[in-house]
Amino acid sequence: MQVRVARHAGVCYGVERALELAMEAATSGGTVHTLGPLIHNPQAVAALNERGVEVAERLDEADDGTLVIRSHGVDPAIIEEARAKGLDVVDATCPFVSKAHEAARTLDAEGYTVVIVGEADHPEVEGICAHAGGDAIIVQDPTELPKRWSRRKVGVVVQTTQPLSRLEAVVAAILPRVAELRVFNTICSATTQRQASAEELAAEVDVMVVVGGHNSGNTARLVEICSAVNPRTHHVETAEELEPAWFEGAQLVGVTAGASTPDAQMQGVIDAVESLG
Ligand code: SF4
Repeated sequence: MQVRVARHAGVCYGVERALELAMEAATSGGTVHTLGPLIHNPQAVAALNERGVEVAERLDEADDGTLVIRSHGVDPAIIEEARAKGLDVVDATCPFVSKAHEAARTLDAEGYTVVIVGEADHPEVEGICAHAGGDAIIVQDPTELPKRWSRRKVGVVVQTTQPLSRLEAVVAAILPRVAELRVFNTICSATTQRQASAEELAAEVDVMVVVGGHNSGNTARLVEICSAVNPRTHHVETAEELEPAWFEGAQLVGVTAGASTPDAQMQGVIDAVESLG
């Protein structure tokens, strides 16, 4: 069985940077907490824990030392509160997410009704919403848009890992209904590249395997995209989850991985698929 890996796959710049910053903080001594799991990958979080980096689910669980803000970013009030508590804050917010924050702040300051295209309960979206003044409208598709607009000026920002097609659908639905529409395409290039190369590869192979945390939004999106072009798409977190029956009669297997999947995890899956025959 031959394995082909997507041209753009696996850990992205923002996640790599956050991991490096957390490791740096761990080696410089003292207590180190991340606010929430640093990345949506249980194995990588466990590896960090072995190096002394602990997860604080809430700010009140971190009383001293260093607090690492993950690549998803947070409400700026949380950073202020952490500093006021005397914590040393290491801000690992991905620069692409910071751009979405900036766009949200601009739209809010200029009097636009802010629409965020993304998942309402995702920490990145919560952070963007806070930068938009806390009252943004969060939608995943046009059916969730309000029936009436309180203002005729609408501005759109998008969660960095959303597919472009979703942003386009929401923008197209708002456009005929408002006097002014301003759009910031804040989808990051790592996302665009990973989604495009996953889709391309899924269409060429017999079976597609997507590697990444079951709690990872960007991995879930790759699964969605690949499944749409290849129904024999499977999502695994580690090589142990692979089932030989998935590969019956397959000659060519495609592998891709979410932006929060460490290289070693993806390689483990590639090796395991190759060893199936
Ligand atoms: S997926 Fe994009 S926005 Fe998210 S951490 Fe990676 S590079 Fe940054």
